[in-house]
Amino acid sequence: TFIHNVVNGHSSATDCILSPISVTHTHTHTHTHTQRERNVITVTPWLAPVVWEETFDKTLIDAIYKMQNITVATTVFALGKYVQFLKDFLESAERHYLQGYRVHYYIFTDQPEAIPMVTLGANRNLTTLKIPGSSRWQEITLRRMEKLEKLIDTQMINEVDYIFSLDVDTKFYGHWGAETLGDIVAVIHPGYYSTPRDEFPYERRPESQAYIPQGMGDYYYGGAVIGGLVEEVHKLAKTCRMQLDVDKANSIEAAWQEESHLNKYFLYNKPSKILSPEYLWQDFKSKTDDIKIIRFSQVIKNYAEVRPNP
Ligand code: UDP
Ligand code: MN
Repeated sequence: TFIHNVVNGHSSATDCILSPISVTHTHTHTHTHTQRERNVITVTPWLAPVVWEETFDKTLIDAIYKMQNITVATTVFALGKYVQFLKDFLESAERHYLQGYRVHYYIFTDQPEAIPMVTLGANRNLTTLKIPGSSRWQEITLRRMEKLEKLIDTQMINEVDYIFSLDVDTKFYGHWGAETLGDIVAVIHPGYYSTPRDEFPYERRPESQAYIPQGMGDYYYGGAVIGGLVEEVHKLAKTCRMQLDVDKANSIEAAWQEESHLNKYFLYNKPSKILSPEYLWQDFKSKTDDIKIIRFSQVIKNYAEVRPNP
C-alpha cells in the first residue's frame, strides 16, 4: 500500500505511484529532538483526502457543516451477546461522536429490552429496530448490508443527510467530528495499514463476486465503518447485498463476508474520503508513531464467549 511504503521510508516500483505528502510538526516536549516527521499519505492517487490529526481545521469544518443543519443517521447492530457492547458504545459516542450535530441512532437488535438507558444530548435520538437473531455470526454480518439498504429505502431518504454504519464492539476515545463527512467514506483497517498490497486478505477465489486479483486494490478497508451521503451508502449497500445474494446462490461465502464485498465495491467505486486508522483502531494494539490520537477503537472481546458459533 502507499502508506506502507512511506511509513517504512522506501518505495517499490510497483506500488508507489506518487510521492506522499508528509505531515510535519514541531513539538515542544522536553525529551525530544524538536521535529518529528510523520510520513503518512494524506491524499490518495485519485485525490481523495485521508483524514489524520493535523490535516484539518476543526473550526473551519464546523463552520461549513453547522450551516447546513445536517442529520447524521448512525446504524449499529447488537444481536445476541453483542447487546453488552451498547452501553460503552453509546456513552462514549455521546462524549466524542459528532458533538453539536443532529445524530439519529438506529439500533438493530433481537432484544429491545436489553438496550441500556443512556442519556442522549440535545438533538440526538435513538430508534430501536427489532430483527430476528441468528445462530451464526457470519449470518449476522452478512445481513447488515440488506438491513441498511432496506432502512434507507423505507425511512431515510428525506430524513437524514449522512449515514454511518458502525460496529458495536467499539468505543470512542477522541474527537470524531464533521471532518469524517463526505460523499462516500471508507476507513483503513488498522490491522493492514502497513501490510503489502498482495498480502491483503481480499477474497481471492474468482468464483466469488468479491474476488480481487493479485496486484489490484488500493487499501484494505475495514467493515466496521462505512459512511457517506444517504444515497451513496444506499448504492453501496444495495450493490454489496446483490453480490452477497449471488455468492449465496453459488454456495460461496467470501473470506471476510461483507468486508470482502465492501473492499471489492471500493476498488471500482473509489471512496471520496478515507479515514486513517485513528478512526478505527484495536484496543489490543499499542499506538504507533503515526497515530497521534485514537478516536474510535474495537474493544477486546472473547470471541468464544460473545459469538453464537465458533
Ligand atoms: N454482530 C452482532 N452479534 C453477533 C455478531 C456480530 O450484533 O453475534 C454485529 C455487531 O454489530 C458487530 C458486527 O456485527 O460489531 C461485526 O461482527 P464482529 O464485531 O464480531 O466482527 P469483527 O469486528 O470481530 O471482525
Ligand atoms: Mn467488530
